[in-house]
Amino acid sequence: MPSFAARCLVVAFLATKLAAQEPYALVGATVHPGDGSPAIADAVLVVRDGTISAVGPRASTKVEAGVRTVDFAGRHITPGLIDTHVHYSQTGWADGRPDAANVRADFPYEQAMADNQAHPDRFHRAFLHAGVTAVFDVGGYPWTLGLQTATALDPLAPHVVATGPLLATFDPKLSLPDARQFDFPADEAQARTMVQAHKKAGSAAIKFWFVTHGDDDVAKWSPVLRAIGDEAKKSGLPLVVHATTLASAKEAVAAGARLLVHSVEDAAVDEAFVAACKQTGTFYCPTLTVYAGYAQLHASKLGDEVKAQLDAVHPSVKERALRTAQLPRHNPRVLEAMQKHLSLQGDVMAQNVRTLHAAGVPIVLGTDAGNPLTLHGPSVFVEMEAMAAAGLSPGQVLRASTHDAARALGRADLGRLAAGSVADFVVLPTDPSVDVKAFRALTHVGRAGILHERAGLLPR
Ligand SMILES: [Zn+2]
Repeated sequence: MPSFAARCLVVAFLATKLAAQEPYALVGATVHPGDGSPAIADAVLVVRDGTISAVGPRASTKVEAGVRTVDFAGRHITPGLIDTHVHYSQTGWADGRPDAANVRADFPYEQAMADNQAHPDRFHRAFLHAGVTAVFDVGGYPWTLGLQTATALDPLAPHVVATGPLLATFDPKLSLPDARQFDFPADEAQARTMVQAHKKAGSAAIKFWFVTHGDDDVAKWSPVLRAIGDEAKKSGLPLVVHATTLASAKEAVAAGARLLVHSVEDAAVDEAFVAACKQTGTFYCPTLTVYAGYAQLHASKLGDEVKAQLDAVHPSVKERALRTAQLPRHNPRVLEAMQKHLSLQGDVMAQNVRTLHAAGVPIVLGTDAGNPLTLHGPSVFVEMEAMAAAGLSPGQVLRASTHDAARALGRADLGRLAAGSVADFVVLPTDPSVDVKAFRALTHVGRAGILHERAGLLPR
């Protein structure tokens, strides 16, 4: 990793470059602010030094003389999308998760992780190409922490907010001889020491991987989780929890979780859980579509949706995804049972999104990108459409994917098209408040004010 001084130099260089940007105004589009306020027809959006300096109706928003204008009449502009659940330490295929399908012999895990560390730009570009201008990396190797500074002002990368290594209850045997992405607290004292160490290392939040087997397990881990939550609070760090059962999610919220990165999958959420989320101010990231990727891996068959994404990701990701057909196929009866389980579980997850949303708990976009066949970047379209299918209106999905997601990241300067916000935005040919599929056809991406044509962002 480059030294701190070297990284500061890079940031200073980029800051100078961005400040030297010629101001410009996007004129004529319908602007969707992202925060739930009404769309602005025939709008003007002025960008100066990487920031939005003005936005409003053309009739009342002045464009100063000499400011270049770009005509986007008929288009729609929204804030850049924000994926609050990604992993740069995973690859999008089995080589990054050999615990799901053991491909270690042909695709050594060590090599996959070395590639990820050496080429985060592959995922940076895939995210931007999909209109994703900020992500929350909620668990990975220590080097992911360095992405936060490295991407802050990089117009060819999304903002990365990262937790770094996870505190965990369960060991999936995904570590390297010289680096680990999991810490296993044995007791409360150790949990506190680990939280302090993560803060010192530069974690933006503390992630707890709360994998449990039954309610006894939840009770057993409760003191450790409470200690983690308490120590995180004292350290000024938000708590992010992976919890997929109602019992473990309740415990997570009781410990102060700011963000739940999965749905409650085993039962309908009850009033007590809803009330606790509201009281704690918890954001709920339902991560509805990640299991579909595992199902394809086990069936050794790529679905049409993933196939359609393969030209929008780095060639190395495409090549690996296409190897799915060569994996050993699970027994058809096992596959059938798995599908049935996923379908029933999907119904529970969708119902829980509706219940929590109706109660006013903020729902946020997150894909779990990096897991097998949940590809960094284009998987956001699938997840947003699943959120709409679960019952959120297109406008609500937009807000969950921009303004509210930015709050889950702790970034008030992102996720909104308003004066003073970072100029991260996407340009669409059709109205996203009518159909979220509009995002699939985006034509331009603005990142820190730099206006990219989408084709120029293809990973390479
Ligand atoms: Zn995850």
